[in-house]
Amino acid sequence: MARYRDINLKPFKNPVFVSRPTLPKHEEFCKKSKEIFESEWLTNFGKQHGILKNKLKNYLENRNLSLFCNGTIALDVGIKALDISGEVITTPFTFAATPHALSLNNIKPVFCDIEEKTLNIDPDKIESLITKKTSAILAVHVFGNPCDTKKIEKIAKKHGLKVIYDAAHAFGVKIDNIPVGNFGDMSIFSFHATKIFNTAEGGCLVYKNSNLSEKLYLLKNFGIKNEDEIELVGTNAKMNEIQAAIGILNLKTLEKEIAKRRKLEEIYKKELSKINGLSFLGKVANVKYNYSYFPILIDKMISGLSRDELYSELKKYNIFARKYFYPLCNNFSCYKNSQAKKTPVAEKISKQVLIMPLYGRLKSADVKKICLIVKSITDNAEKK
Ligand SMILES: *Cc1c(COP(=O)(O)O)cnc(C)c1O
Repeated sequence: MARYRDINLKPFKNPVFVSRPTLPKHEEFCKKSKEIFESEWLTNFGKQHGILKNKLKNYLENRNLSLFCNGTIALDVGIKALDISGEVITTPFTFAATPHALSLNNIKPVFCDIEEKTLNIDPDKIESLITKKTSAILAVHVFGNPCDTKKIEKIAKKHGLKVIYDAAHAFGVKIDNIPVGNFGDMSIFSFHATKIFNTAEGGCLVYKNSNLSEKLYLLKNFGIKNEDEIELVGTNAKMNEIQAAIGILNLKTLEKEIAKRRKLEEIYKKELSKINGLSFLGKVANVKYNYSYFPILIDKMISGLSRDELYSELKKYNIFARKYFYPLCNNFSCYKNSQAKKTPVAEKISKQVLIMPLYGRLKSADVKKICLIVKSITDNAEKK
């Protein structure tokens, strides 16, 4: 079995990171920035902002869309616009921004365990966490795998709760040919440099109720209604023209980027499929995926190797995989004491999960080499 342990593999010359930002052609960016400079209009709902907004409405098939300077503040403002308060049921297996956006609004995040097959919030465990104070469910489409929107929304309807999806990972994902942002009351997307579609920093909200448009506008622009009236306490969460310009250019190449990543994921799956104790997430037929991330799970009981050991071994080869999501949000010092119920599935997964490098500019040959290195590391562990 152990055919790979004696292969002599040299480390990568340059570090291989888990991701690299998609960049537009520099000449195209220069052309756009020249246009912006000549307009002498850098922010406050300029021309590029308008263009990107329309393009995204088309792409996400949602007429209610608001652009933001980043995804976290989009979520923060979205929570305020929906008048959510008290307690919100969410997942501990997410990026810090998800529960923080609740806490910043004096809302208590109540952490619900996750499903093993999708790593998303487990709808069957939501109802037991609902109290008189619960006002919403904040679910995350983790790594671009869509949540069970039907079950989640059925529970929400029954108990009169709002539903927000943190779709920061899920730009470009469709369920039954419906763009993922069309579920629930509201979805947030992040356009951070590390996401599948980026504006350097940025984000957006899409939402069901058109009546929210005015409030969202006020909330993200200091509450300024007009020159004479400040209607509410708002922040500054506007997207600027340079961000929008990068977005317009990156949107043109998004489907190509997704296709490249899809091909690389196929290589990973083919090469790593026979390793004992190493597994992937499943895919379902009615979903169009965006191939944002390539997570693997390492079960030490079978592989003889822990996730942390594989992570450290890979570093020796100049490969920087990432432990997403570890630590779990309910283990952060700021949330630890508020947790009543344990989340055992999330605990287990967060110790097993590793995100492998995946981005369009990564070469097929490099993915093959990464796989050979993984095979030699796991073979060595088996030998022990
Ligand atoms: C990236 C991310 C965010 C925050 O987005 P920013 O644009 O970086 O503020 C929120 N939630 C999840 C799950 C993310 O991965």
